Amino acid sequence: MTRITLAQGDITRQSVDAIVNAANSSLLGGGGVDGAIHRRGGPAILADCRRLRASHYGKGLPTGQAVATTAGDLDARWVIHTVGPVHSQSLDRSELLASCYRESLRRADELGARTVAFPAISTGIYGWPMDDGARIAVETVRDADTAVEEVRFVLFDEQAYEAFARQLP
Ligand code: ADP
Repeated sequence: MTRITLAQGDITRQSVDAIVNAANSSLLGGGGVDGAIHRRGGPAILADCRRLRASHYGKGLPTGQAVATTAGDLDARWVIHTVGPVHSQSLDRSELLASCYRESLRRADELGARTVAFPAISTGIYGWPMDDGARIAVETVRDADTAVEEVRFVLFDEQAYEAFARQLP
């Protein structure tokens, strides 16, 4: 059974085996949590991302998929980059958002990571409503078939923390 825990604060301050990044498909950095991870993690992460772009992911990482790099100077062994969907009023992209959590855990299992920190993927620049993002995150992790022992959702502000707390018993 995977334990789900919540923390409020900056995901780049967490000590875990793997930190998940809400990346964009270029893998070359961006704003929000992505910018924070590259800033604190240092240039080794970007160097790994460039290597991925030069090899397997020439066109970038597709939405809903996940890939791992070094965690550089972060207190973690790996960063798992995943690309959340941009929220849409007209299309239901929930399955792509669920895929981010599922594929990140699959990568974590491949690596042997036992503790994984997730941000609230897509709920920032990509505009996903926080309550729905929290529901999809918690349901997907709960239903995942994974050897990860702890999934820690790291929520930047109190409103996000409360949204996730409402999804837990
Ligand atoms: P996306 O493009 O997937 O929406 P963002 O990085 O813009 O990604 O936002 C995702 C979530 O991460 C938002 O809820 C945002 O408030 C939060 N966030 C931003 N910076 C950090 C951080 N350093 N640690 C944890 N969460 C963060």
